[in-house]
Amino acid sequence: MDNTLYDILNEIIEGIVIVNEGLKICFWNDYMENVTGLKQEDVKENYIYEVLPNLNKRYFEQSIQQIIKNGCKIFFSAGMHRSLVSNKKEFNVKISLIQKNNSKFFLLEFIDVTNQFVRINQFKEYVQELYKLNQKLKVKEQLIKKLAYYDQLTGIANRTLFYKIAEKLIDNANRNNSLIGLLFLDIDKFKQINDVYGHEAGDKILKKVACILQNYTRKSDMVARFGGDEFIVLLPHFKDSKSYKKVASRIMNAEDKSIYYHSREIKISFSVGISLYPEHGNTIDTLILKADQAMYTAKNKGGNQYCIFE
Ligand code: GH3
Ligand code: MG
Repeated sequence: MDNTLYDILNEIIEGIVIVNEGLKICFWNDYMENVTGLKQEDVKENYIYEVLPNLNKRYFEQSIQQIIKNGCKIFFSAGMHRSLVSNKKEFNVKISLIQKNNSKFFLLEFIDVTNQFVRINQFKEYVQELYKLNQKLKVKEQLIKKLAYYDQLTGIANRTLFYKIAEKLIDNANRNNSLIGLLFLDIDKFKQINDVYGHEAGDKILKKVACILQNYTRKSDMVARFGGDEFIVLLPHFKDSKSYKKVASRIMNAEDKSIYYHSREIKISFSVGISLYPEHGNTIDTLILKADQAMYTAKNKGGNQYCIFE
């Protein structure tokens, strides 16, 4: 090759390698020498895939065959072919066929895309950070929701969530002409338990009552802590006005109405008042009021029983 041409190829700020049909190196420009530390005189006449072992021999030969067959150029992306030339830099490679006097040569152009890689990796890191931040925000959002709608001690719905859902359930019942039962429960002599055994025991009882109410009602029923030692259960899909007896007896006769506190058994007793929609009222507040009155009737009869509003 004309010396001027060599000079030009050596001035180019990209790797230029020419291999013959046997895939042995004929030309290796200065840029390649700088990047690999290998001199042209040392690599000349060597197989390209031996000099650059990360250029998979079989795959490279297949690509060359394809270029000969289709006369196309082939592109190896740095994303797929890592560390082709050096461990520190990443290169895209374009391979094209040069035909001269019945001889075939292949031109390999190595284009440094390390900076693009750095940027892509930075971008990936940003995306990763954003993802993590988003996850954290979601957890916080759930926590805020939990604090706003759930009772911290028992984990069941609080008064706010109760009202939100109760209003929807009443709307539905109104539309479908169906019945709803409302159970208002208050623990008997709870102050005394707190005084005798302490607040920790009292808290354990509140959690137990929440558990009992959840275990002895359906998933579609709504159990909420109304405040202090008061709980409400809203029972949609009531079959008839006598159905409350079944649910109330089931809760009253729960087998596990006690807790163990410092190896001592503390029995749990509660009183329940019941009101029905629409029989006793058509707003949630009226229903609560009537159920509360019925609950007091149960207390006045000695507690540990249920009463329907009359
Ligand atoms: P009654 O049989 O008439 O219901 O009597 P009672 O002692 O249960 O009286 P009341 O229902 O008025 O008492 C509720 C008590 O619940 C008062 C309060 O000290 C206690 N309490 C309210 N919230 C909590 C709580 O989160 N933990 C504990 N341990 N006690 C609570
Ligand atoms: Mg009480």
